[in-house]
Parts: sequence; structure tokens; C-alpha cells
Amino acid sequence: MALKKLVAGNWKMHGLSADLAEVKAIADASRNFPAVDVALCVPAILIERAARAVPGFAIGGQDVHHQEQGAHTGNISAAMLLDAGAVLTIVGHSERRDAQRESDAEVKAKAEAGLTAGLQVILCVGESLAVREAGSAVETVLAQLDGSLPGSLGGKTELAIAYEPIWAIGTGRVPTSRDIAEMHAAIRARLVERFGEDGAGLRILYGGSVKPSNANEIFGIPNVDGALVGGASLKAADFMPIVEAAADGPGSF
Ligand code: PEP
Repeated sequence: MALKKLVAGNWKMHGLSADLAEVKAIADASRNFPAVDVALCVPAILIERAARAVPGFAIGGQDVHHQEQGAHTGNISAAMLLDAGAVLTIVGHSERRDAQRESDAEVKAKAEAGLTAGLQVILCVGESLAVREAGSAVETVLAQLDGSLPGSLGGKTELAIAYEPIWAIGTGRVPTSRDIAEMHAAIRARLVERFGEDGAGLRILYGGSVKPSNANEIFGIPNVDGALVGGASLKAADFMPIVEAAADGPGSF
């Protein structure tokens, strides 16, 4: 099944008020590519201003707490993200799994909280270099997926999976097309096993050093339904050629 591609930028801990001009440039240019869903996940403190600056364009968060409210200093609930104007959130990014020691169970709870509240959720999984070199990348990522997937989708397809090999994030290194294809096919099979037909409708994004120079090839790989882009999403000049490549590739409608 050809799914509409989603190209989401992850600004991580980058972006000040002055960078709202870049958000606007990306949102404006994205209107030229209606065949692609484009989103920017900005730092939490910028969400409200970004959402106001670009009405109708998808602004997201980079994390969400699994509880609705409570004594959780520094955390942000799904309702707060929505209230600020976000329509999606990333959960389980490897930088959080590592630095914040987030477990699969926590990521699952965050995904469920986001979906229940009405956010689209991009759930990240990915293996370390040691695991890739040991030849157990697929089984490791599938185990991570099993532990992190929400219990049910409630008949919706607002969940996307981002396969992000840790060793490819911010390094300029990218797996071979064959390895990406193998992983995405395995993830697709597992999603269908878990969610039936709904699993066939979930987008599987690739993330890790996606650039204008490699986007065409990556979007041509079966079961690659978009990208989660870090460094190359900070400037419209780098990000928009990636969006354009997604619009040109097979699978868009
Ligand atoms: C990311 O952090 O989600 C990411 C894919 O980063 P980069 O594109 O910079 O590798």
C-alpha cells in the first residue's frame, strides 16, 4: 500500500525566537508539496509561538509525559502540547532513551498518552553500532518495538514508527539501502502482526543523516514512508529539497 509520506524535522535543543523565521520559511515552502505531510518538532518553549506563526502547519513536541498531570517537575503532558498548538510528538528518541534512561515500557506509556489525547505520535526505535556489527539489528529493533508499541490503535493510524539506527544519527553515516529495506520490511510485518490491517496503514520513517544528497535514494526504498530529519531540518535550504524528494518519489498521492 502506498502511504502519503511524512517528513518531520526534529530540531532537538536548537531554536530561539529568531529562528521562527525559518519555521515560517519551511511552512510556506511546504505548501508547494501537498503530496507530502511536513512537520517540525521544535523545542517545547517555541511550540506556541511557532504554531501561531504558521497556522495549519504541523508543529510538534519532542517528548511527552505519560501522565495527564501531577508532580512531575519539568515535564509536559499531552494536553499541554495540544493546548500550545502542537498536533504531534516524538516519543522514544534514542537521545532520550540514552540520556534520560527511558525504558521501552515508558516509551509505550508515552505513546499511549499521546494517542489517547489526540496527538499524532512518532515512536523511535533503532540499534547501536555494536548490535548492528554483531548481526542482531533486526531482532533487537523488533524487541524494542514489541516493548514500546501501544496496546491498541483504537482503529486509528496516527502512529508512525521512526527507524533510527543510533550510529547514523548526526554522524553522516547511513545504512545500505538493503539494510534499510530489510529493517523496514521486518517492522511492517510486525505492525501487521500486531494491528492487522491498521498496521499496514502506519507510516514507517527512516531517520539518521538524511540529507538532500541521499533523500531520493532513501525514499525509493520499499516501506520507507517518510523521514525524521535532525540536522538538515534546521534550515529551509537543507530541509525543502528533502521534502521535494519525498514528493517526487513513488508512494505519494
Ligand atoms: C534525529 O535525531 O532524529 C536525526 C535523524 O538526526 P540527524 O538527521 O541529524 O541524523
